Amino acid sequence: MNVHTRRYRRVSLARTDGDDGDDGDAMTRPTVVSTLTSSPTATPRENVAARRDGVGDDDVVVLDVEEEEDAGGRVATRDGKDVETKPRGGGGVELSMKRYFRPASIVDGETSTSEGAGDVGDENDGGSAREKRRRDEPRIVIESAPDERAFTTKSIGGCEVKFPEGLSPHPAQVMTMSSIIRALNKKENSMIESPTGTGKTLALLCGALAWQEKESKNPEGAKLYKAWVKEREKYEAAKARYDAGLKSGKRVEPEFGDGWMSSDPHFRRAPPPEATTPKIYMCTRTHSQISQILRELKRTGYSPKYSVLSSRQRMCPYNKSDTECRELIKAKGGVRTSTDCGYYNRHQRAVRTMARFEENGMIGHYPAAWDMEDFDRVIEHEDACPFYTLRGMAEDASLIFCPYNYLFDINVRRKMGLKIDGAAVIIDEGHNLEDVCREGSSAELSLDEIGKYADELAKNHGRINEQTTVLSSFFRSISNFLEEQFRVSNSPDAIVVSSNQVKTLTDDMLKDCPDHLATIDEIVEELMTTKSDLLTPTTAPAIGLAGDIAVVLTLVRTNPTAYNVIFGRNMDIDGDTCPGIAFQCMQPAVAFHQVARDARSIILTSGTLSPMTTFEAELGVKFASKIEAPHVIPTNQVHVEVCGALGEITYKATEGDVQGSRFAKNLGSFLLRYAKIIPGGMLVFLPKYSLIDRIFREWHITGVFSELSAFKRVCVESRGSRGFQETLNEFDRGNKKGKGSLMLAVYRGKVSEGIDFKDDAARAVFCVGIPFPSMFDVKVKAKRNYNDSPYCKERGMLPGGEWYRAQAYRAYNQALGRCIRHPKDYAALFLVDSRFLEGGVWMMNNISKWIRRNVTACHNINDSVRTVDEFFKRLRDPEAFGANADANANAATAPPPKPIEGNKNFLRGVGHAKNKPLVDALDAMCEASMQAGEDPKRTNAYSKALVSIRALQVEVTSGAKISKSGPDKVPNVGPSIGAQIDYFFANGVFERHAFYEKGELPPS
Ligand code: SF4
Repeated sequence: MNVHTRRYRRVSLARTDGDDGDDGDAMTRPTVVSTLTSSPTATPRENVAARRDGVGDDDVVVLDVEEEEDAGGRVATRDGKDVETKPRGGGGVELSMKRYFRPASIVDGETSTSEGAGDVGDENDGGSAREKRRRDEPRIVIESAPDERAFTTKSIGGCEVKFPEGLSPHPAQVMTMSSIIRALNKKENSMIESPTGTGKTLALLCGALAWQEKESKNPEGAKLYKAWVKEREKYEAAKARYDAGLKSGKRVEPEFGDGWMSSDPHFRRAPPPEATTPKIYMCTRTHSQISQILRELKRTGYSPKYSVLSSRQRMCPYNKSDTECRELIKAKGGVRTSTDCGYYNRHQRAVRTMARFEENGMIGHYPAAWDMEDFDRVIEHEDACPFYTLRGMAEDASLIFCPYNYLFDINVRRKMGLKIDGAAVIIDEGHNLEDVCREGSSAELSLDEIGKYADELAKNHGRINEQTTVLSSFFRSISNFLEEQFRVSNSPDAIVVSSNQVKTLTDDMLKDCPDHLATIDEIVEELMTTKSDLLTPTTAPAIGLAGDIAVVLTLVRTNPTAYNVIFGRNMDIDGDTCPGIAFQCMQPAVAFHQVARDARSIILTSGTLSPMTTFEAELGVKFASKIEAPHVIPTNQVHVEVCGALGEITYKATEGDVQGSRFAKNLGSFLLRYAKIIPGGMLVFLPKYSLIDRIFREWHITGVFSELSAFKRVCVESRGSRGFQETLNEFDRGNKKGKGSLMLAVYRGKVSEGIDFKDDAARAVFCVGIPFPSMFDVKVKAKRNYNDSPYCKERGMLPGGEWYRAQAYRAYNQALGRCIRHPKDYAALFLVDSRFLEGGVWMMNNISKWIRRNVTACHNINDSVRTVDEFFKRLRDPEAFGANADANANAATAPPPKPIEGNKNFLRGVGHAKNKPLVDALDAMCEASMQAGEDPKRTNAYSKALVSIRALQVEVTSGAKISKSGPDKVPNVGPSIGAQIDYFFANGVFERHAFYEKGELPPS
């Protein structure tokens, strides 16, 4: 074994002051691993539905208490428990679709004989009986009728946009559509923040598809297409005659004509291409969100050729691994319909059936678009493999739906063979994009895993032995390096190797591997494609991992300045603490640039992109336009309150024996006051699961739990996805059958990301504390330090502290946006942390615009309870709400309300009256300094002085007098703030106010 003796410099990651960081364990990215696998009792199709739709961190569920309890489709998970598979609602669409999926009594003269004899699909089901039943079943026919819906059309940017029948786009939607069309026309990137409930998804679809339609129009193509439609009509008539003859027992000769096949009603001659249609990738965070987008697509008047990308793990009815699947579908005698997987053998037929939707659209019929429920019905009927059907449909699709990690994770994109060239990429719910990009070009390995794969590949693998030996030496080289590092250092702490040493480190690490990374890559490529027949279930994952690591290491070596390498004995890898190594990408720009370079335009949207500057700096790509669309909710339907009743919610205030108990008790009493008057559901967000556990325990001990239970059904968000659906059901039941429910949940958890709590599902959101990333997380520390480096400064990236704050406030805004999901919704939002009261405008500017424009301050809980009570009484009074509904209707055409930036009421009545001029001057300076983009340190200094002065009941004449040691000592004013106030007086800092007032920056 070669011995490497280089020692890597330990980079200091000391905690820095200035942030009231709470070491929230909820900071970790939502896990996307579903724990649902096959049930021994469920059928294969139930298993796939449970895996695909099981509610986990990867899911979206709409809770709508207006609907009947059993309105949602439910399937069994492997636990045999019900899992909601679709949002409840949209009943109208559902009913109308049933018409189109009536199996028609069509039996062709021939029956398919192409299914394979050996068929895993039949193994558990009495093979021949099932095969016979399938042959006897009539094939599904998707009936259609002329589409007579009256779309609302609007001309935007040279495109004729069709909006669903009866809907007129409101200003936020028009704004979204015009910026998409402008960006796509000009091949620019655009960033659009549009609050939840503004119909953003519909606007995205209509804008993008109108542009695509305009781009693909071609008069010659249209002529050819018309001729094809005529020919098809002839075929339809002939088919009807043939069927009628069969029914009446007469023998009728088929007369289908050239190019049309009698054996399969769906196999028609392919329509001529209309024109080259530009490709669009429409991406969102999860597959459940894609299902929601598809439902919206059905409402539009567009019928693009589209498909959804998904993984074999999610879709395979038999839960086969990639290797097992590949083994099964090895064609027998070169016939692709004669493999050992019957589902696979029938997938082409399902692809042809699904094509009928697009054909409907081409001749102006309905339905022209499908959603996942339609797809499931076709798959069920055709008994086909859903994974390969979607893949088949994607081959010539002009619109592809996929989670955005498929594009921005370099290894996923490589394996799926996605080509972005010239495509428009639209990213919805993109607030996590930075994380996805960073993680998509990072890799983590445990020492055990490396050793295991090195050993496995070192065995004799016959015809591919030469190649597996090379891959084994690649893994061995990494494990030798790590073992040597652990031998020379006994420290339990992780070692962070910063960018300037990364290249040297990788040289050392690959010393024992005689081949270049490019060779490793080529070997893996060859083994996974042309030689995949020779792989076994044990070699395939090892070879796949070698390929992934080689790709990431190539990125590390070509972009060393963008990486840190972290290794240690106690690394957190896939939830385990073990020895290992992480190649951590610090710049999302590495992954983002690869897509942005090839794409025509990237449109990034979300309800919570603020602060937008972070995205542009971190993604390293220019966004020509950054739009903040207004909310459609009239201001009288949302009550926002900043509440300091529980003080600062920091780590110190909530941990420890005494403080923790006191905090839990105070929080319980505080919520009880509101639980009595708030109708429907209440969501309470906290920074950490451990804090929620503590609170729940204390509430049981102190009796708060039973007091709260008298008014609300109390639920707690569970860690991981197991059991979460039951919690949601429980919460839902409390809202429907009782006086409402109260859910304790964590920021960045399952409740805060992707679940719509509309109407009575949540009438109030309490955001308790601010979810700052954990200060003790080695990766967070490394990223902060990295952003503070001169390299990042040069590139205009946010300083570490600001990046850190942006992460916290983005999660905060995301949680606040859980309720108010449509223009007639209403809710109360509570920002429970005294730092918002003290920080004034400076703190509030981190909050989404539509929330901060409504903010009021709570100084007395009795006043607050009275105001909130009146707010709900007014909105629940049918007459008052009628008037409100009219206001909503008008909101569709009225200009957006003028935002009230930094509500000055916020400051009224605070501190000593004589300090008001100082407070006003500091407040204005804070705001002007921030808006002018001055050094954040300066804004921060104003803010800190502002907070201190506003808290004082004595007149400020000198900082030294009021600070802790002075004659007028005030508890909250430490010597440094006192000194700062003195400095402000002595250096005329307050006079700078005059410059700001004139809209100028004062001399530095
Ligand atoms: S072809 Fe489809 S159904 Fe058959 S094993 Fe592969 S993924 Fe599963």
